[in-house]
Amino acid sequence: MFTRILIANRGEIALRIIRAARELGIGTVAVYSEADRESSYVKLADEAVCIGPPPPTASYLNIASIIAAAEIANVDAIHPGYGFLAENAHFAEVCRSCKIEFIGPSVESMTLLGDKVQCKKLAIKHKVPTFPGSKDGVDDEDEAVKIARDIGYPVIIKAAAGGGGRGMRVAHNDISLRSGLRSAASEAESAFGNGTVYIEKFLERARHVEVQIIGDTHGNVVHLFERDCSMQRRHQKLIEEAPCPVLSKETREALCKSAVRLCKAAGYYSAGTVEFLLDDATQKFYLLEVNTRVQVEHPVTEAITGVDIVKTQLQVAAGEKLPFKQSQIALNGHAIECRINAEDTERNFAPQPGLLSRFTPPGGLGVRVDTHCHAGYRIPPNYDSMIGKLIVHSPTRDEAIARMQRALREFDIAPIATTIPLHQRLLNNSKFVRGDVDIDFVGRLLGR
Ligand code: ADP
Repeated sequence: MFTRILIANRGEIALRIIRAARELGIGTVAVYSEADRESSYVKLADEAVCIGPPPPTASYLNIASIIAAAEIANVDAIHPGYGFLAENAHFAEVCRSCKIEFIGPSVESMTLLGDKVQCKKLAIKHKVPTFPGSKDGVDDEDEAVKIARDIGYPVIIKAAAGGGGRGMRVAHNDISLRSGLRSAASEAESAFGNGTVYIEKFLERARHVEVQIIGDTHGNVVHLFERDCSMQRRHQKLIEEAPCPVLSKETREALCKSAVRLCKAAGYYSAGTVEFLLDDATQKFYLLEVNTRVQVEHPVTEAITGVDIVKTQLQVAAGEKLPFKQSQIALNGHAIECRINAEDTERNFAPQPGLLSRFTPPGGLGVRVDTHCHAGYRIPPNYDSMIGKLIVHSPTRDEAIARMQRALREFDIAPIATTIPLHQRLLNNSKFVRGDVDIDFVGRLLGR
């Protein structure tokens, strides 16, 4: 096992990783930008290294300063968390060449799965359902029009190197397809340095369902069931739950097995998520992409399976075998997560940096709060606005909703506006309670 690891991240996920490492007896080194000096994860780590000023200087993205900190602190491995460098294959390669273990999958599987066109080809080869569409990137408009007419409008144009919804356009006819191809390609080129785009069938009223998988370096890959993340606004997830409330037993099995097949084919190890869109009327599902890292919403899966995903990531990164088999993983109860963001939902979700003069999280049976905040903490204006995650676990979905309502009511945050009132409204919505939602549900409710 590792003696000491560096955490190349900030906020609640840095704290989450420190906790897992400490339970395994591993020393921890935090890095922080000047804006995060007062953050609790910095204090909780065994050591902390300042890596520079806040944005526009990209401290947490600065490979040279992170590697320098890792060399100085003499760590065995780096955990990248999510965001920042987590899906940067070049960073993983630099770690490897510096003989520092990257806590994540291999450079090769990151590169393969990070290219959506290659990933889709691999999926087709291994009979993982994908949307009909172009077999490769498309650079010829006439050819794209031909494919689109063939599969039928609407279609979606997507960037091979895509992420965060950039380089994505929906087209309803030939004209919007032609103009969309041009603008998506130039957006992808400037965002990712790769202007390759492809097209596929656009599914309306889809649900977002994703499978958590974890693998080791001995060829074992296990799934930890699925999460439903259909409650999102502008592709940003707001509420996640596990399991998906509308999946039949047969579909669940087919979905989870598909995810395992794809990851095995990619030689995958560490934690990863295979994202799908689900048409709940037909129970058909289609591959979206693979995220080669731990995700924000991993705690709902931890709740229903009892597996500590971050701890397992550390174990497999150190070369150990997965400590469980697929047959030992059972689905227990229902879990829901609400992302608590410092945003004013009445003012177009404007970020709310500033002093948290009151911050008292809820507690009690089946309630977990992952946060780096506390009363007296000043939310810096430089980073994303998530200030915590509230997760509840109960025997049934109805009880989980009731528990979440109770916990949201207890959560006392002032004077900063947060997403709590919106969560309360969404959890009260009769359609959500029935599980009758899709990825545009929140957008429609809020009038976009
Ligand atoms: P990114 O990596 O940029 O986030 P994804 O492939 O994960 O891109 O897609 C992001 C979102 O775009 C999905 O969550 C979904 O809302 C929408 N989307 C992508 N492909 C389709 C599709 N074929 N049909 C309908 N919606 C889609």
